[in-house]
Amino acid sequence: MKNWEKNMRQVVPYVPGEQPDEPDMIKLNTNENPYPPAPEVQEALKNLRADSLRLYPDCTAGALVHALAQYHGLSDDQVFVGVGSDEVLALSFLTFFNSKKPILFPDVTYSFYKVWAELFQVPYECPALNEDFEIEPGDYKKENGGVIFPNPNAPTGVVLPLEQIEEIIRSNPDVVVIVDEAYVDFGAVSALPLLDKYDNLLIVRTFSKSRAMAGMRIGYAMGNPKLLQYLSDVKYSFNSYTMDQTALVLGVEALKNEAYFQETLQKINDTREWTKEQLAALGFIFKDSKTNFVFAAHPDYSGEELFKALRAAHIYVRRFAGERVKEYLRITIGTREEMECLVRFLRKYTGSSK
Ligand SMILES: *Cc1c(COP(=O)(O)O)cnc(C)c1O
Repeated sequence: MKNWEKNMRQVVPYVPGEQPDEPDMIKLNTNENPYPPAPEVQEALKNLRADSLRLYPDCTAGALVHALAQYHGLSDDQVFVGVGSDEVLALSFLTFFNSKKPILFPDVTYSFYKVWAELFQVPYECPALNEDFEIEPGDYKKENGGVIFPNPNAPTGVVLPLEQIEEIIRSNPDVVVIVDEAYVDFGAVSALPLLDKYDNLLIVRTFSKSRAMAGMRIGYAMGNPKLLQYLSDVKYSFNSYTMDQTALVLGVEALKNEAYFQETLQKINDTREWTKEQLAALGFIFKDSKTNFVFAAHPDYSGEELFKALRAAHIYVRRFAGERVKEYLRITIGTREEMECLVRFLRKYTGSSK
């Protein structure tokens, strides 16, 4: 070991889903949207001029913040934007989780939480989901330095009812509670109405899934203005210009066409319900998902075996390590045609005559 290596911050990084590029692939591994972004986004892209890149972008991201505030019926000082919700979440860990007491998040959840906790040296504990992969609000009533969970949870897809979310927030008035609503548009109830009641609540969202803009990297947080002021101070101490000019323009455009948004959500949700029926008929087990993915296992085949067989057929799904989840595949909902292809393959593989 070199001497300089003794001063390294050593981390075990988050491992993103792979981004293969094969012409015949069916990519169901990173919860991307199978439909294009709103047509307004394409139109605005055509009109972008290189000359506009000469200047720094608006460091307050004012136009996008305002558009989001309008969209959600909030004031501008209740919205904070960042480079994907991953950046918003990372800055939130840095800003809000500075207690010596452990922060709490579920044992089965978005695996990045643990990585940020390690990176920023935040102590953490992971209460176990119950047998049905549900969050038990009672587990979040012990002393802690903060709470974070997604609703619906990932990678399980399971929804926590709003009353139980409120129970967790109400029990934790002295710390910040973050609800990561990356998938909420696909059919869960948002914690947004609770913002007026609780100044310790932060809701985080992304354009990556429901708005089909994973490649543009836009995420945002909604919360009490005082809470967001702390977040903003940390952002300006790290990188004033997080959002690039193109993201600022296209983000605003993406919010303009509600009909298109609802139409694509409906298509994905319909395909999800169809996929659930098909998977159930093939003997897969899964919890009810209100997201754009299904987290499923088959009693007769290991997760590893199914993952490899699918991969060999150029059908990419996601699988996670960990005792409780290793037999499961997280299957993103693609187009109906893509899901038919997946089901055809699985039907053949499991030798079902159905
Ligand atoms: C995808 C995802 C994110 C990150 O989304 P980006 O906005 O693309 O960074 C955050 N949380 C959860 C639970 C996710 O699934």
